[in-house]
Amino acid sequence: MLLPAAYQQLVQALDQLPAVGPRAAARLAQHLLNSDAGAALLQALQRAGAEVTQCRHCRCYSNADLCGLCGNEQRDRTRWLVVAGVDELQQAEQVGWRGLYFVLHGLLAPMSGRGPNQLGLDQLQQRVATAARPLQITLALESTAEGCATAAFIASMLAAAGVELVLQDWTEWLTLQEQA
Ligand SMILES: [Zn+2]
Repeated sequence: MLLPAAYQQLVQALDQLPAVGPRAAARLAQHLLNSDAGAALLQALQRAGAEVTQCRHCRCYSNADLCGLCGNEQRDRTRWLVVAGVDELQQAEQVGWRGLYFVLHGLLAPMSGRGPNQLGLDQLQQRVATAARPLQITLALESTAEGCATAAFIASMLAAAGVELVLQDWTEWLTLQEQA
């Protein structure tokens, strides 16, 4: 017997999520349909879709045009940290970073369709162009092929911008901050 098309569509949509294969997608779909988890997920997705946006300065998730970090006058505006995602931003906050951020939401991966536009690099370039000097920008990305390619791309993009660039491995940066 053929299962309903709507069920198949739900499985396919879940299968599109990162790190979820077809078998896990089917199990998730069944769990969502057999429990209250589906209704809770739907509600959370609708709320996030309506309320969560990206800060126009740092691209962190925010429920306003400018996030609480960028709007905070106490933050050190002469030092920016470029991170791969919001998890890294949260870790940097925990180890006491007091500068500003730029969140890439990923690393360059042309084969997976993630180019400079997806990482908001034009936005970073514009923000750097209009920011006050002196300005130090630390690129703290992981030392994988994608991380190194992303750091190299940003470094060359900002080479003539008149800012001090610091390239550091993410884990190394975090360890150094924890020790400081
Ligand atoms: Zn922000």
